[in-house]
Amino acid sequence: MSIESNFAFVPGLTRNDESAPALWFAFHEGRMLVAVEGDALGLPRCTHLSELGLAVARVQYLGTLNGEPAYSAEIATPDTPAGMVWHGLRTLFGLFDEPLVAIASRASQVLEWDRTHQYCGRCGTPTLIRTDERARACPSCRLTVYPRINPAVMVLITNGTEILLARKPAFPANRFSALAGFVEAGESLEQTVARETLEEVGVQVKNIRYFGSQSWPFPNSLMIAFVAEYAGGEVRPDGVEIAEARWFAPDALPNVPDRISISRWLIDAVSAELLSARASR
Ligand SMILES: [Zn+2]
Repeated sequence: MSIESNFAFVPGLTRNDESAPALWFAFHEGRMLVAVEGDALGLPRCTHLSELGLAVARVQYLGTLNGEPAYSAEIATPDTPAGMVWHGLRTLFGLFDEPLVAIASRASQVLEWDRTHQYCGRCGTPTLIRTDERARACPSCRLTVYPRINPAVMVLITNGTEILLARKPAFPANRFSALAGFVEAGESLEQTVARETLEEVGVQVKNIRYFGSQSWPFPNSLMIAFVAEYAGGEVRPDGVEIAEARWFAPDALPNVPDRISISRWLIDAVSAELLSARASR
């Protein structure tokens, strides 16, 4: 099931027409309210969520979605209006098209940031929302805080016709994925790739190439994916972050992550590339 696959989102901070119905990304403790319309799923559409009998704790205007105003809102209690259901943010990744999930991800992160930055981190004064940019500012010491994004890198290492996949201790049996880790202060993305691969599996890499990125709202990551070539070292999992790491042929892959995440897009794209290179030899 998917909804509204052809749409345009335009980010915005203030709304012109307050009277028209709006689309709502409404959350309660990590779950989002979804309207069920026959076989399809949609977003609640109303002027204000109080019309649905919901107690709203906070609201952020997000912009327009197909010309309609869109908001994120935190709901105080998990009441379920008629014809609606709550879905965990993670399950939305399988239910909605990727561009819509990206807005849900944005909505969730803006709410979380707003909730956790009500007071100045420097002087403790209550902060005020700014109208000229997505920020909260301290009226006393002028500190401005923006939604925080934590960058993390992902890397798929190739060696000739094979790719290196790793299993985290918490993964289900036979589930393998690309390596990943958070960027540390002061690092370039390429340095993070080199450090993580050395730390987690003991290998050096070269020819690091950008692949793509995905917002990952658990709670506020930006996953930036790379492909790199093996340059040396013996594959030796660190035993903490990584339980097992092995080289795999692209036509004999283990259980890999779902199609909702960039790890799978990366694995699929590189596997296809290697298979096509093999076929043309
Ligand atoms: Zn302050």
